[in-house]
Amino acid sequence: MKKYSLWLDGISEEKEPILKEDIDCDVLIVGGGMTGLSTAYHLRNSNLKVVVVEKNEIGRGISARTTGKITYLQDTIYSDLTNFYSESIAKKYYYSQRDAIEIICDIVAKEGIDCNLRRASSYIFSKKKEKLMGEKKLLKQFGEFIKEANQDEYYAIGVDDTYVFHPIKYIQALKSICKKDGIKFYEHTDINFVRMEDNGYICGNEFIKIKTKRVVFACHYPYFLFPFLMPLKCTLEKSYISATPVKKIESYSAISVEKPVISLRYHQAEKNYLIYLTGSHPLYTEYDDQKHFEDLNKKLKRLELEPKYLWSNHDIMTFDKLPFIGLLKKDLYLATGYNTWGMTNSNLAGKIISDMIMDIYNPYESLFSPTRKLKKLSLPETVYGGIKPMIENKVWKNKDWYPDNVYFERRNGKNVAVYVDKLKKEHVVYNTCPHFKCSLLFNSVEKTWDCPCHGSRFDLDGKVIIGPSNYDITYHD
Ligand SMILES: Cc1cc2nc3c(=O)[nH]c(=O)nc-3n(C[C@H](O)[C@H](O)[C@H](O)COP(=O)(O)OP(=O)(O)OC[C@H]3O[C@@H](n4cnc5c(N)ncnc54)[C@H](O)[C@@H]3O)c2cc1C
Repeated sequence: MKKYSLWLDGISEEKEPILKEDIDCDVLIVGGGMTGLSTAYHLRNSNLKVVVVEKNEIGRGISARTTGKITYLQDTIYSDLTNFYSESIAKKYYYSQRDAIEIICDIVAKEGIDCNLRRASSYIFSKKKEKLMGEKKLLKQFGEFIKEANQDEYYAIGVDDTYVFHPIKYIQALKSICKKDGIKFYEHTDINFVRMEDNGYICGNEFIKIKTKRVVFACHYPYFLFPFLMPLKCTLEKSYISATPVKKIESYSAISVEKPVISLRYHQAEKNYLIYLTGSHPLYTEYDDQKHFEDLNKKLKRLELEPKYLWSNHDIMTFDKLPFIGLLKKDLYLATGYNTWGMTNSNLAGKIISDMIMDIYNPYESLFSPTRKLKKLSLPETVYGGIKPMIENKVWKNKDWYPDNVYFERRNGKNVAVYVDKLKKEHVVYNTCPHFKCSLLFNSVEKTWDCPCHGSRFDLDGKVIIGPSNYDITYHD
């Protein structure tokens, strides 16, 4: 069994250089995930000098671990937005998602991208029929034809005109197109400071500086945007995902509206797979990944499925259920907070932000504005979410969370964690996240050190795989 995402298997790609000198550009895009690539794509013919910097490798972040559904049927989002804001906001969000799907399909068709894009109806389901009635009513009001289905004890509603694809093949294709049109990409180059200067910004790290007129933060968790106070506006949600070879492909995807979520879709390629997700929880509430993977395996066993891939992933959930996309302050743009619906929303973000940069009217500019007045900021939840794992893990160092070949000790006056591999080689890392000093937890399935506070992830030797941390935790004697 492979303990990483199906999308990352067998992916080879031209590597991009590390930026080693100071440069100038018109637009700096920070982050080479779906958002960054989509923004670059729409700016490629703008006559602006566009540069994309990625702290790891292009398309290896959250977008590489998604389930890759492209749908406007997203949990009970329209009822939630109606309750939180109004029906007209819900309707506008609905149109935005329909437009996003059209954007993706148009790009795939126009550029002839081979990314296993396939039409698949979407369903939401529940044991309690009444939980779906609000969504059904709203979607009908928006003009949708709604399908209904019953299976076992579940009731489901469904829509057509929705899709699934291979997210990494799509990202790679966008990169090739952008490169042909002159956009420069740099990998293993992180941005850890942003300074406003005269007519633009200076961004960079300890080695290089980039002078740019505009900055687009497409980096998932924009930890360095002080005083945007991102932690007061969102939480992180983690889920556990599997891919199992299957003979028969169904042309639908589905997601439960109850937590913990069950979500599934089929992937049709040289081999066919059922992708099945479960166990979702706020990042800071549960620490035992092993148990979640075991639960997932048990569920799969009951369905007589033997997974070939297992992995986990987390996304940013905003308190008002709308993403943050748009202008944060002069010439500084942000796109994040997709509430696990980032395939549509990242592609929408690319279009909205590029339109704003090129002075083109976009109907969704105000809907997603990151400076919108929020009805609710959640201080208690944030404080709880940020501090609880720090305290608990530090105080308890719960042995049950770790396998026998992981232990903690002090070396040269520092707290370190040691993983001993099958060849008895020690992999030693500092056991605190450089971002906010939270203690790290060992994910014994994927063999990563994961931060329960804000989601940073590190490999066995301490190299950061996913932010917000910009720094490794590798221990040196
Ligand atoms: C379990 C799960 C399932 C999901 N399934 C779906 C689905 O079926 N459909 C759907 O629509 N959405 C889904 N999503 C949501 C979707 O995957 C994400 O919202 C989306 O991929 C986020 O894209 P992104 O470009 O913002 O982030 P990323 O892909 O993480 O890209 C951000 C990039 O920025 C880089 N970066 C970060 N900081 C810096 C820095 N300081 N300097 C330089 N680079 C930096 C990172 O290394 C990374 O490569 C799912 C999410 C989860 C957790």
